[in-house]
Amino acid sequence: MIKLLSFSTIRFQKLDYYVGIDIIKQYLVNKGYPTTTDNFTLSLYPPDDGAKFVVKKPILYDNFDKAIPEIYQLQPIIQLIKNYQNNNDLLKDISKYFTDFEMDNIKNLIEYTNNYKIKDGDIVGLQVIYRFVFHCLLFVLQLKKSNPNKKITTVFGGYHITESKVVREFLLKFDFIDYIVIDDGRQPMLDIVKGNTKSKELKGSFVGLTYPEYIKLDRIIRKDKDFQITTTVGCPNHCRFCASHRHHILYDIEYIKRYLIRQHKIYPIKNITFVDDLINPTKERLKEICKMLLELQSKHNMKFGWEAHCYALNIDNELADLMNKTNCKSVFLGTEIFDDKILTIINKGCLSSDYKNTILKLTKKNIKTKLGIIVNLPEETREIFLSSLEKLKEINNENVIIIPSLFKLFPNCHIYRHPENYGIKIINWDQDIVDSLTEIKGMAIPKEWYYINDPSSTGKNRMNLILKYLKETESGDTYS
Ligand code: SF4
Repeated sequence: MIKLLSFSTIRFQKLDYYVGIDIIKQYLVNKGYPTTTDNFTLSLYPPDDGAKFVVKKPILYDNFDKAIPEIYQLQPIIQLIKNYQNNNDLLKDISKYFTDFEMDNIKNLIEYTNNYKIKDGDIVGLQVIYRFVFHCLLFVLQLKKSNPNKKITTVFGGYHITESKVVREFLLKFDFIDYIVIDDGRQPMLDIVKGNTKSKELKGSFVGLTYPEYIKLDRIIRKDKDFQITTTVGCPNHCRFCASHRHHILYDIEYIKRYLIRQHKIYPIKNITFVDDLINPTKERLKEICKMLLELQSKHNMKFGWEAHCYALNIDNELADLMNKTNCKSVFLGTEIFDDKILTIINKGCLSSDYKNTILKLTKKNIKTKLGIIVNLPEETREIFLSSLEKLKEINNENVIIIPSLFKLFPNCHIYRHPENYGIKIINWDQDIVDSLTEIKGMAIPKEWYYINDPSSTGKNRMNLILKYLKETESGDTYS
């Protein structure tokens, strides 16, 4: 049996957030290998502070996620591995690195792991994100510890692993991780199942794989949850803070149409969330998709709404009209900041006026816009931040939902690779901490970063200013 597991945050609990591992599952099932998927959800915030997914009720909280370079929880990870190697309780001396609330999450994960059904010879694949490297390791080590007589093959993969050479090199040092998968996981997982592997690091490819799986992919649609689907891989744009470097591939709309028709017969689809980076790399592409949706709604009597991430410049009046006719409920626009100088620095390809025009077009058609705002971007002074906030207030209306998040320096993005051009200094973990674990001795592991001209600034004060406004006006949502 192949068992695939993803880790997600509470924000995504509304969604199944399974798409990646579900696609791998279906590929393996089609090849005759039984596969299951599951998801473990961690809350980022204490329950009283908004752990439930509640739109329009942003939380005020000063312990935002740290702006992560790579392996920011190295100390508890080292302690965890030492505990495993010394056959101690895995949580020995761990609590000093976490808040009580975070420890509750960790204990939940231990309980989940102890109830995780595993058989001798099973293969367990984890979709790992930076934030949860510690948690994924805890899961694997607890699984191994509580099943000492079973052979369990462990595979780490996913988008963040693909982008971080340091995380991969780190994980490959340990014998409790059997394989690391980069890029698309379908072929590598098949190779692992068949025993066709020559190395611990396996690279899949999105290129050359059309989407036949979409014709066969039958996912269980859970009641009251959105139905997720992708129409693309990657994104053609090159925003400098973004780590999305996958090839840009457009899937065949005819495949997707047939898949949706068949799914609807199994379980009526009420809402589709397109989880593409961007559904409209061009206007023409979104027009084709809208025409397909219109056909489903008119000829096949399907009644559903839909949501997607869009590129602001590729929505004109004709498209806004078509989106409205196909029952588009909301559009996420990565607006980031209302300041043209910084939009140019981060290479968004859009200016503030483009966002305003698009929001207006969508508002006229009663389509909500969710505005992704990034706080504490390079060269964002307090004056720029306040001016951007004022512009946000000007365009805010009942059709707008503002979703702020703190700037995170994602490994492998352009800014991360050229930090000095953006006034950023990245610092590594002290070597004596790294060297305290034999396997990783001598490794250089990035720990955190700061703005050289303002080392103590974290952006948290600005984040709280924007959250305060959102709370007062009930016009926001909390990102991670
Ligand atoms: S931030 Fe969005 S639009 Fe920009 S490159 Fe990344 S996925 Fe594409």
